[in-house]
Amino acid sequence: MIGGGTLRTQVAILTAYQQPLEIVEVDLAPPKHDEVLVRLLASGICHSDLSLIAGAWPIPLPMVLGHEGSGVIEAVGPGVDPARVGEQVILTFAPACGRCRYCLAGRVNLCVEVAAGFETGQLRDGTTRLSRNGDTVYHLAFVSSFAHHAVVPANAAIPLPAGLDPTLCCLLGCGVTTGVVAVTKLANVRPAEPVAVFGCGGVGLSAIQGARLVSAYPIIAVDPVPFKREMAIRLGATHAIDPSDGDPVVAIQTIVPGGVDFAFEAIGNPAVAAQAFAATATGGTTVLIGQPAVGVQASFPVYDLTQFEHRILGTHIGGATPALDVPKLATLLAAGKLDLATMVTHRFRLEQINEAIALVSSGEAGRVVIELQ
Ligand SMILES: [Zn+2]
Ligand SMILES: [Zn+2]
Repeated sequence: MIGGGTLRTQVAILTAYQQPLEIVEVDLAPPKHDEVLVRLLASGICHSDLSLIAGAWPIPLPMVLGHEGSGVIEAVGPGVDPARVGEQVILTFAPACGRCRYCLAGRVNLCVEVAAGFETGQLRDGTTRLSRNGDTVYHLAFVSSFAHHAVVPANAAIPLPAGLDPTLCCLLGCGVTTGVVAVTKLANVRPAEPVAVFGCGGVGLSAIQGARLVSAYPIIAVDPVPFKREMAIRLGATHAIDPSDGDPVVAIQTIVPGGVDFAFEAIGNPAVAAQAFAATATGGTTVLIGQPAVGVQASFPVYDLTQFEHRILGTHIGGATPALDVPKLATLLAAGKLDLATMVTHRFRLEQINEAIALVSSGEAGRVVIELQ
């Protein structure tokens, strides 16, 4: 089908910061030029959704949240190959514009147009397809997956190999790709290099899987929650440290004298970032993956950078090129080399999304997924 009429679809909408999401029906206009209509099958809940609800990063409201979506293309707008209808896809919030200096340099995770889309809540033509009683409703970063349907740029819908469980592969839209690719590509960890991962939420556990995939050793997980440490061991960590037992830096240096070559901070907490820095060996790299609120500051001993060539890397989506990296990870998922089933501990319906969000906030769950079919 090409185009089609305006659709009524159920979504979870944020109308004011620090308020529960509301389950409402909205109008979704048909896809315009170079856009597709996707019927969503599942959406992960990422910590960034919680930060958006909290108001940590300014966005226009009301907005349909959710940015880890998997689904099926149901219709295409003008300029898109109608043969794409029926494709199983993952939605990415970083669809390359292909023209800006970052896209041209292969750093599409930094695309200028993507950043603008996040700020305005609009699609590429400066309008939204979402509305409610005639009033504008905004898109989250071209995705808005807490919904049964979404209209997205055609290249934000990344085709997948057939047969993958949508409630697992949706995680490739953000957290898993971020964690794995931060290790395998951005940091470029090599076999037998020692790694520590601070924080074993979805991104941290994915970084541990990335470290396992490249045969890093040892792989040291740091998290105060017992079941997260157990999950880390199941997913490839060789050691797990409880930071409430004492200084985790000392514990890491007991396992790897001098510290690890790579320490990943996967929480977005400046005190933990300082621990990750302190656990990193001379010549090593501290990688900051966890995303704090705008304006959060951390401090590091500059002498260590100039004297010991200690590097600090920032990363957005792990430095991934989603259109390239997501299908690779989907292949690993299909081959049984990437374990997402262990990471997903709870599944909810869209109507239960506030319950699901409360569970994510509690830190008592692994990855939590909304089933949409
Ligand atoms: Zn995310
Ligand atoms: Zn661009």
